[in-house]
Amino acid sequence: MSTTKHPSLLAPLDLGFTTLRNRVMMGSMHTGLEDRFFNYPKLAAYFRERARGGVGLIVTGGISPNRQGWLLPFGGTMNTAFDAWNHRRVTDAVHEEGGKILMQILHSGRYGYQPFVVSASAKKSPISMFKPKALDEDGIEDTIQSYVRCATLAQRAGYDGVEIMGSEGYLLNQFLCKRSNLRKDRWGGSIENRMRLPVEIVRRVREAVGENFILMYRHSILDLVEGGNSWEEVVQVALALEKAGVTIFNTGVGWHESRIPTIVTSVPRAAFASVAARLKQAVSVPVVASNRINMPDDAEALISSGAVDMVSMARPFLADPEFVNKVATGRVDEINTCIACNQACLDHTFSNKRASCLVNPRAGHETELVYRKTTEKKRVAVVGAGPAGLSAATVAAECGHEVTLFDSSDRIGGQFNIAMQIPGKEEFAQTMRYFARRLEITGVKVVLNKRVTRDELLSAGFHEVVVATGVVPRTPNIAGVKHPKVVSYLDVITRKVVPGKRVAIVGAGGIGFDVGEFLLHDPAIALPMSVDHWCAEWGVDLQANNNGGLVKPVEAAPYRELYLLQRKTTKPGAGLGKTSGWVHRAVLQRNGVEMLAGVDYKKIDDEGLHITVHGLERTLHVDHIVMCAGQDSLDELMPKTSGPDGQPMPVLPRFHKIGGAALAAELDAKRAIREGAELAASF
Ligand code: FAD
Ligand code: NAP
Ligand code: SF4
Repeated sequence: MSTTKHPSLLAPLDLGFTTLRNRVMMGSMHTGLEDRFFNYPKLAAYFRERARGGVGLIVTGGISPNRQGWLLPFGGTMNTAFDAWNHRRVTDAVHEEGGKILMQILHSGRYGYQPFVVSASAKKSPISMFKPKALDEDGIEDTIQSYVRCATLAQRAGYDGVEIMGSEGYLLNQFLCKRSNLRKDRWGGSIENRMRLPVEIVRRVREAVGENFILMYRHSILDLVEGGNSWEEVVQVALALEKAGVTIFNTGVGWHESRIPTIVTSVPRAAFASVAARLKQAVSVPVVASNRINMPDDAEALISSGAVDMVSMARPFLADPEFVNKVATGRVDEINTCIACNQACLDHTFSNKRASCLVNPRAGHETELVYRKTTEKKRVAVVGAGPAGLSAATVAAECGHEVTLFDSSDRIGGQFNIAMQIPGKEEFAQTMRYFARRLEITGVKVVLNKRVTRDELLSAGFHEVVVATGVVPRTPNIAGVKHPKVVSYLDVITRKVVPGKRVAIVGAGGIGFDVGEFLLHDPAIALPMSVDHWCAEWGVDLQANNNGGLVKPVEAAPYRELYLLQRKTTKPGAGLGKTSGWVHRAVLQRNGVEMLAGVDYKKIDDEGLHITVHGLERTLHVDHIVMCAGQDSLDELMPKTSGPDGQPMPVLPRFHKIGGAALAAELDAKRAIREGAELAASF
């Protein structure tokens, strides 16, 4: 491989007994496919695509060494010859494509969502419902033996090595930190005792697998929890692990129970890479940086500066399996960038659903959603260039159809153009860049500034018409809703209206929360936020002098005084993403936003917004009231069942509606893009 722009990233990495073809690693992600043996053909197809796309090293989702280590009941386990036989499909697929793959050994400890959980001490985590049993001496020895058996079976299954998961607050991290290790025996107390289990596991695994097998250890370099380790301890543990047989260190940041976000889209890119770079200074084996690295320029800078030896990107390989090949052939502008939304990957995993990707619905569905070349070329019209229409148009064209895409606006993107104005959602612009390039490559004819009519669509000779015209904001029926204080979220986000200092937001859905963040942001502060600014706001000490890297956050300085209202009596924000909703709630809480549930809207007048909350009357003396009360479908282009003269409508073109045009309720870009792709693949 050669390229002038990313030579360091594409340079091989010599590990002594084996060489990785480049410095890009696809980090571990649980897809849900690894938990059932009958899904292994699908898992193999998923990994095959990523290996074919050129990535240097792949790490599987977490596989438990025994029953106690399950994350979920009957989670993926490697402890029999049958398990090893199943995994062969995966390793063969990756090797056939010239790739290398490690199996991650993950013992969840007290994070397991099952009744057999064990940990260093019988102390429940704040995010689990099961109290763990403290492992006794025999239990610890059994655990070590399980790791050894698991690693040797992985070797038999054809893996190039294993990654031992020692971060994110799982079992080994639980032993390492005083937060969860309250033991008084030789496995607790001093750091020498707390690190005994991971070090012993590495030593015994190395002894069992021999020298020529990659042993990667994912080390927690910043725990981001009270009672986490200091930097001195992090280094001491790393040196002991290296001596015990680690080939390469991957790095992990933040326990799952940490209240600091580490991978959501508002975390600045490569925010924690400087900590991984510090680890590299301390050890002599290669070090991998991870977390919020999603584009090759940042990755190249980390490698070429010598900060780290390799970069791990996990979600970016859901978004684009061809990431590395695109870098190698100078096609960076074609990368489908992970926008760190978590909506189809982690949110699915934590809801026990198969992981996929918002921007790439084929992820995890490689054998089911196939973009086959057509043998019957059709003329396809797609109306609306929002996420749904862009997806439908590009997939239809990729399959070989002749596609025309119309939009009444002067640009593609639909509501994504609005979403990317929200502080912390800057990455959404990458999706528009990707689709713009994809339209060019697939040869879609794009007609902007054109509000098409049904008659035009009926008479133009199309075979298929895709109505992807999206939604219109809903205006709720509140007395005084036409008062000049009332504005729509569109006017606010597009800056047609600059609201005053006191604002009420009607509707606490995804858009209500986003408008909250938009209004709180001081326009004098440049976006995206710098790493230093972000660390100060969240109370992160990248030096990790003590307490797992936590310090007191700077005082919040909200730009406006806000109220966020909903009629439901549930907690505001309850419907937001499972792994990102808490971040949005925390930002608004920190900035003193008053969130009210159980609101009844009475009227709007010069005084402001009159409401009752649980029966008590209140007037919110605000300058503006921003409506974020959901949306209604815009599907006026869909044909009636019969023509104006009562005759049946012609058979062609066939009309279809997708995205917001089909259903406004619970609409998100994940559904819009998936519906577009599925429909177009069926033409
Ligand atoms: P739209 O994006 O609404 O696109 C419809 C397009 O059709 C528009 O470009 C419009 O100009 C065009 N059009 C309409 N009528 C005609 C006509 N007659 N002729 C030609 N063109 C026409 N979703 C998420 O998943 N995650 C998020 O974090 C997220 N954040 C958001 C934040 C904000 C502030 C907003 C406003 C939305 C957010 N969304 C988010 C929602 C997401 O943007 C929508 O779900 C998605 O855009 C819907 O896609 P769509 O293609 O169905 O419709
Ligand atoms: P939404 O999530 O459905 O929220 C609409 C809000 O308006 C609710 O709080 C609802 O609460 C309120 N509402 C509905 N009808 C009302 C009425 N007649 N009068 C007053 N209030 C009313 O929709 P949204 O916020 O507009 O977001 C649209 C879509 O974009 C969402 O489905 C979401 O998935 C997506 N989005 C996602 C994110 C994300 O971070 N993942 C961010 C932004 C948007 P009550 O009925 O209780 O009052
Ligand atoms: Fe990235 Fe979102 Fe896709 Fe997950 S769903 S891989 S976060 S773009």
